[in-house]
Amino acid sequence: MKAAVLYGKEDVRLEQKPVPEPGPGEVLVRIQAALTCGTDLKVFRNGGHAKMLKVPALFGHEFGGLIEKTGPGITAWRPGQRVVAANSAPCRSCFTCRRGQPNLCEDLLFVNGAYAEFLLLPARIVKENLLEIPKNLSFQAAALTEPLACVLRGVQAVNPKKNETVLILGAGPVGLMFVQLAAKAGARVIVLGKGAKRLEAALRSGAEMILDLATLSDPASAIRKVTPQSKGPDIVIEAVGRPQAWEQAVSVVRPGGRILLFGGCPADTQVSFDTRRIHYDELSILSVFHHTPEAIRQSLALLADGSIRSDLLITRESPLDDLPAILRGMLTDQDAVKTAILP
Ligand SMILES: [Zn+2]
Ligand SMILES: [Zn+2]
Repeated sequence: MKAAVLYGKEDVRLEQKPVPEPGPGEVLVRIQAALTCGTDLKVFRNGGHAKMLKVPALFGHEFGGLIEKTGPGITAWRPGQRVVAANSAPCRSCFTCRRGQPNLCEDLLFVNGAYAEFLLLPARIVKENLLEIPKNLSFQAAALTEPLACVLRGVQAVNPKKNETVLILGAGPVGLMFVQLAAKAGARVIVLGKGAKRLEAALRSGAEMILDLATLSDPASAIRKVTPQSKGPDIVIEAVGRPQAWEQAVSVVRPGGRILLFGGCPADTQVSFDTRRIHYDELSILSVFHHTPEAIRQSLALLADGSIRSDLLITRESPLDDLPAILRGMLTDQDAVKTAILP
């Protein structure tokens, strides 16, 4: 089979690999669509990831496909079924799993290798996080299940209400998913970001207003100006993953407001917050990481009931051979959203 292998910094190659044979409890999936993702771009740029994979490694983790073959002991699945899976599964027995936080599992098992013709799913992922794609949902749209599950947990944490002002920092795929969910909750959504096409997509996703970073000399005052009585947004959702964005989120929210720090920052970075602001303005600072099997199921249900417009998130289709060029392009393209890679 053809598969993308990550060797190091900005070094991904397409190679011929033997088609894996499913062992006990395992399932082999024939990939129909895989999606590019900001996390993959980060891994591509850095040449690896402490938790997710060690190079050289098969690469890619958002996909939809058909079951090709099942391993010994599998009775719930059969070849030909349309499926999607999360990119990880918790152990269910460690300290955090036992405390009901499987997203923080100390032994989270990851699977990578969706940029390929076939992907072998380990038994634990088959058991915890393999789901059938509902009939009305395309493989590409179903592949959004995993990133949307992470975003969904973020939305549940800050719980935007009707008519609240929600500022979203960042207009990448994650920012755009937040726009759709916050708008759906009836909030008034403002997006601060860059890239004309992404910002235009934010408007079509339900944002009431966009602020283009490229044209603002003082983003903080521009944000306040468009909120009731210039007090700042009720909620700020940070979807950038840079310390400066975290600090900005805390500085612009209104007194009594809520902040979601969603984007993971580079390793060994620090932020500095004004203690007076946090205490006397009673700010609620929240953060979420990854997804749970429950959120994965809720996410797929949202996609299936048509609540999420996948066409605003997946803007291109490309063959697997083009993957290295697409990832290189994403390093500098401020307008890239998600590309569906079709093997
Ligand atoms: Zn992802
Ligand atoms: Zn665990």
